[in-house]
Amino acid sequence: KAKEHGRNCFQFYTSAMHENAKARSLLEGALHKALPNKELSVVYQPIQDMQEERIGCEALLRWRSEILGDVSPMEFIPISEELGLILAMGEWVLYQACAQAKSWYEQSSKPFFVTVNVSSTQFKRQDVAVLVAQVLRDTGLPAKSLTLEITENVLADNSDHILRQLRSLRGMGVELAIDDFGTGYSSLSYLKRFPLSKLKIDKEFIQDLPSDAEDRALVKAIISMAANLNLKVVAEGVETIEQLGLLKQLNCDFTQGYYHSRPLSAEDFTVYLARFNESR
Ligand code: C2E
Ligand code: MG
Ligand code: MG
Ligand code: MG
Repeated sequence: KAKEHGRNCFQFYTSAMHENAKARSLLEGALHKALPNKELSVVYQPIQDMQEERIGCEALLRWRSEILGDVSPMEFIPISEELGLILAMGEWVLYQACAQAKSWYEQSSKPFFVTVNVSSTQFKRQDVAVLVAQVLRDTGLPAKSLTLEITENVLADNSDHILRQLRSLRGMGVELAIDDFGTGYSSLSYLKRFPLSKLKIDKEFIQDLPSDAEDRALVKAIISMAANLNLKVVAEGVETIEQLGLLKQLNCDFTQGYYHSRPLSAEDFTVYLARFNESR
């Protein structure tokens, strides 16, 4: 009886593995065609300045596959990194975002900035500074209006090739933000070693505010540390007015999240920006 059971489990297991492998190769095949088939798009999520002196947005990649439907970036970005497809995709997003931002920069009455996520694969296998210089030249977006979001693992690498790119970007006037701050395993020493300008607190620390006392203490400590290091702080995943109120009280510089707006199409963000400009 037990043997029979075990055998069934084994069969189930292999067939599940087979299904997974099939699903994975289907996804990979579709992903190779995503860019040439024009299945990728970019959405823009507002980033609000507490002082209301500036307005910005984060560019976020979307994939609507002809055969798989909508696939989350949480799923396809890591695979694109593995396959090296992120190089072409990352370049494409950067062009899209900077071209869009150039027109928003011109129509905004407050200083405007766009942030673009850059994966560690791009820093390892390309020269991001050379790429960015080219994109800024082609689109006419001023360097100071562009922020690149990098994760802690980019800095953990600690290679000369990466440090050189970051210094060169900073030298051009491009800002650098640490994304998902607090979720990596790297040492905090990178905060003084690298030319950073912003720190984005991961939504994991924001979601249980204001009630969770530990998260409150952590967020408060991160904000005061950042202020002492001359870094601006962005809180991610702000969904409620209570979270916003607490973050304001703690002197957080920027907030981003569903409370302000979900990520928007370029068209909808244009409307959002126009309303923002009118209301000031
Ligand atoms: P991220 O850079 O940390 O982006 C923030 C994520 O939080 C986005 O998820 C955004 O839609 C989501 N978010 C924003 N506000 C809220 C909120 O109030 N509540 C909750 N629960 N979530 C909120 P998204 O768009 O699914 O992107 C997931 C991740 O995929 C990004 O995390 C980023 O790591 C990666 N990604 C997206 N676009 C790109 C890209 O163009 N290049 C690279 N390298 N990575 C990207
Ligand atoms: Mg980001
Ligand atoms: Mg983030
Ligand atoms: Mg995140």
